[in-house]
Amino acid sequence: MRTQQPPARPPSDPSLPAHPTLADHRRLGRELRLFDTDPLVGAGLPLWLPDGAVIRAEIERLAAEEAIRGGCQRVYTPVLAKRELYERSGHWAKFADDMFPPMKVGEEEFLLRPANCPHHALVYASEQRSFRDLPVRLAELGAMFRSELSGVLGGLSRVRQINLDDAHVFCAPEQVQGEIALALESVLRCYRLLGIDITRFRLSRRGGGDGFLGGDGRWAEAERQLGAALADLGLGYEEAEGEAAFYGPKIDVQVTDPAGREETLSTVQLDFNQPERFGLRYVGSDGGRHQPVMIHRGVLSAMERLVAHLIELYDGAFPPWLSPVQVLVLPVADQNAEPARHVAGHLRAAGLRADCDPADATLGARIRRARGRRIPYVAVIGDREAGGDSRVALRLRDGRQLDGVPVARLISEVSRQVTDRSAGLGFDA
Ligand SMILES: [Zn+2]
Repeated sequence: MRTQQPPARPPSDPSLPAHPTLADHRRLGRELRLFDTDPLVGAGLPLWLPDGAVIRAEIERLAAEEAIRGGCQRVYTPVLAKRELYERSGHWAKFADDMFPPMKVGEEEFLLRPANCPHHALVYASEQRSFRDLPVRLAELGAMFRSELSGVLGGLSRVRQINLDDAHVFCAPEQVQGEIALALESVLRCYRLLGIDITRFRLSRRGGGDGFLGGDGRWAEAERQLGAALADLGLGYEEAEGEAAFYGPKIDVQVTDPAGREETLSTVQLDFNQPERFGLRYVGSDGGRHQPVMIHRGVLSAMERLVAHLIELYDGAFPPWLSPVQVLVLPVADQNAEPARHVAGHLRAAGLRADCDPADATLGARIRRARGRRIPYVAVIGDREAGGDSRVALRLRDGRQLDGVPVARLISEVSRQVTDRSAGLGFDA
């Protein structure tokens, strides 16, 4: 499958303005120091700065957990391959204009990959498969490339390197519905955690057109199973006749950004083409050789697109588990710097992301700075708190202030929010 390049819930803190000016992930990304670009690297090739990398790493961790929960095996495959691979897969014939030109090495030509499906087809083909082995589910969060022109690139939403959460399921035709249901359940679970509202599910069907690969019976059965998986989960969907790819029907998960633009985040797509092109087979219960169906399962989509969406959705005020800095410890004055560093060290030892800012400005100014950075918890340490019984004055991003909070409670409450990937800040009475 190829991801196309594009275009809710309000922020979790009620005290934050609900998009007073429309959140633009490019502006926020710059302000919050999440990513940057440099002309020496090139447009559409963002540098993920440390704070942005934290968010991406948390998403990648979620993707890896979901892949395991969904019965996937993880693989790693190269980001480039010989031109012959993409000739075999059909990508070269169809998408050469969107691919970077070949690199010649001796007599061979290599291409940066436009998708990892061909690689996964070869992983499937690397051993003899029986019906007992199916479904084979291969997951990889890997890079793929688009030779976009500089003029159309910006921020994270149009990029030349896409890091895609992708899995490929190879299954028997009668297993399609169950696999679609697994993928949709994973989408629902992840979106709930991320606070993303689904605008609609769209089932793209073949319709009456021609140029589609595979017989009527196969399409009708596949479309029936896709619809049944949606219906069984109680998910309403709209049908898009004639919108299917030539190689199979698909389900798109549509979301809407704060500016009201609808975009596709997750997709689950059937593919009758790659198994045919790569001659994939499994030995059936009848002893005969059969062709598996391939399902492209992109749950969390491209890291670039998802993080751009989340930046705008939360207006930069991420839930604690995604926040680059979870707790900022502020000494009231210079003489509190040592105990403040000590508390930050405790928090880090407990696995939290904690920083300690020096007393280089008034406390009020530093608290405002922390608010500008959308840090969920600010722990203030003055003479009173430094008295030896390890307490902090806590200021939460939603405006609440709690005095005399024991550090042990700070650690346990924040850790729970983070471990649960909770949307809220905790510390409820
Ligand atoms: Zn794919």
